[in-house]
Order: sequence, then structure tokens, then C-alpha cells
Amino acid sequence: MQTVWAPWRIDYILGEKEEACVFCMALDKKKELTLYQDNDIMVVMNKYPYINGHLLVAPLRHVSQLNQLSINEMGLLMKKIDQSVEILKQEMKPDGFNVGLNLGKIAGAGIEEHLHFHIVPRWIGDVNALTVFADIRVIPEHIEATYKKLKPYFDKL
Ligand SMILES: [Zn+2]
Repeated sequence: MQTVWAPWRIDYILGEKEEACVFCMALDKKKELTLYQDNDIMVVMNKYPYINGHLLVAPLRHVSQLNQLSINEMGLLMKKIDQSVEILKQEMKPDGFNVGLNLGKIAGAGIEEHLHFHIVPRWIGDVNALTVFADIRVIPEHIEATYKKLKPYFDKL
């Protein structure tokens, strides 16, 4: 039995091919799944989550490489990751987190042209369910319900 932690596979497999960058589109339309946005950083719900509370933290600027970020943006990104983790801890009480970056298609980046960090809350026992269901999305709670829970916290940032 294969036990691979691969949250990026979901948007890769299930994501319909969109013409424009989904992160830049989220800014244009103020999409309903945007939790937070300021002049530099955005936090959005993953439309194709691997698990409840799967968030994406990205710079507003459409850049694909770490070396294209300013030191200021790096600091702001890390701060927003920190705040997002704290919010998830408060609201969803996970046992741990996977936080990471997929650079390039080979590394699993579903949207490789716009850098984004994944924040995936983890609960003891979730791997078993995920192993069984393999590539099937396991979302016990509807994404909009999760959004409604998390949004008030981000509104206070
Ligand atoms: Zn973009």
C-alpha cells in the first residue's frame, strides 16, 4: 500500500485547465474563497483541498521563484503563514501541520507560475483515511462552511 502525502496532486488531477493564473484571478474578482488580502499577500482556501482547512498563502505579485521575492515580501509571507497556522489551531484544533512549497511541475506544483505556500492541517489518523481513498478528495466538511468559520479570524488581522 502506498502512503504518499501529496496534497498538490488533487488540484493537478481535478483542476480544470484555467486560462489565467488562478491567484491573479482571485484578486481581480475578489473571489469568495479569499480569506485575506493586503497590498502584498493573499490567503485563499484551496479550491481542491486535500483535507479541511487546506490554505494557500501567496504574494500578490505574479512571480514563480523565491529569488524574485523581496526580503520584505519573504518576511510578510512568513508572518502570514504564522498567523494562518495560529488561526487554524484555534478554530480546527489539528494535531500538526504540513507547510510547504512546490517549485516546478516535477515537485507537484499545480500552478507553477505563481508561487504559493500550502498550509495543510493534520489530524492523528487522517493518513489512514487518505491512504484508503488515495486520489479521492476527502472533505468531511464543505469548503464554504470552513471558509465561514475561518473568515472572521482573518478579518481581524
Ligand atoms: Zn498570478
